[in-house]
Amino acid sequence: MVVLYDDQIIEREQARIDPEDRAYQFGDGVYEVIRVYYGQPFYMKEHLARLQRSATEIRMNLPYPLEQLEQRLLQLLQRSGLQEGNLYIQISRGTAPRNHAFPSNARPLTLAYTQPSPRPVKELSEGVSAITTEDIRWLRCDIKSLNLLGAVLAKQKAVDHGSKEAILVRDGIITEGSSTNIFIVKDGVLWTHPANHLILHGITRQITLQIADELQIPVKKQPFSKEELFTADECFLTSTTMEICPIIQIDGKPVKSGTPGPITRQLQQAFEKQIALLQSR
Ligand code: PMP
Repeated sequence: MVVLYDDQIIEREQARIDPEDRAYQFGDGVYEVIRVYYGQPFYMKEHLARLQRSATEIRMNLPYPLEQLEQRLLQLLQRSGLQEGNLYIQISRGTAPRNHAFPSNARPLTLAYTQPSPRPVKELSEGVSAITTEDIRWLRCDIKSLNLLGAVLAKQKAVDHGSKEAILVRDGIITEGSSTNIFIVKDGVLWTHPANHLILHGITRQITLQIADELQIPVKKQPFSKEELFTADECFLTSTTMEICPIIQIDGKPVKSGTPGPITRQLQQAFEKQIALLQSR
């Protein structure tokens, strides 16, 4: 397997992580996951812009310009031969003697590699189950930080209950999933949490909102409660890896009839059309 290490593409075995790398000790860094279809990156510029924003928000300079990173990632993609899967990128604040405060002269370290992964076709067609759990994460969920313990614990709770996702509840309000954004449909209106500090501003969430606009589906980017979740007509999650995926059961109770709803299906179809466009490039 080849990896991007700083600005070089090398064999995985040659990549050396220092014991004092701040990503390893503090989770001090940011990351992105970009989906690849037909060997092409999907919404790469949007992901790289978010990576830049995350870095700025944690007061970290990228080690080299974003355009150079984009070129290196495209080279990595070519070298890897990946057709369908994920492109993972992380940037650590770098290596320095352990001390919480920022080091004065560490160079941030970029690491990226590809993972083959098929589209979750069964989940997309049949829908998945979810649980609800308390949102115990910090108050800057808009930063795609390497610190993921809150998400890890929530996801494991879902897995322990035989579910695919944990829907997070803060003060009675649904924020998002442990690694996804959450939408409900109520009386023909699409609801999702506003893009503030309590959620990650998902790229797939943004694509879904654009599609809804094109299809003239009314949208409310407003908080909704756990009670409203349980009385929704439809529910779905969005993410780079799960696309637009119906949620058909929450905490063991069916969402409406317990099958994917018509608006979810409409959005899924439009999303698939965008993927198909990459095939002809
Ligand atoms: N929220 C959280 C907490 C996530 O980790 C993710 C996945 N990165 C998302 C939402 C979905 O974001 P995107 O559509 O950009 O993958």
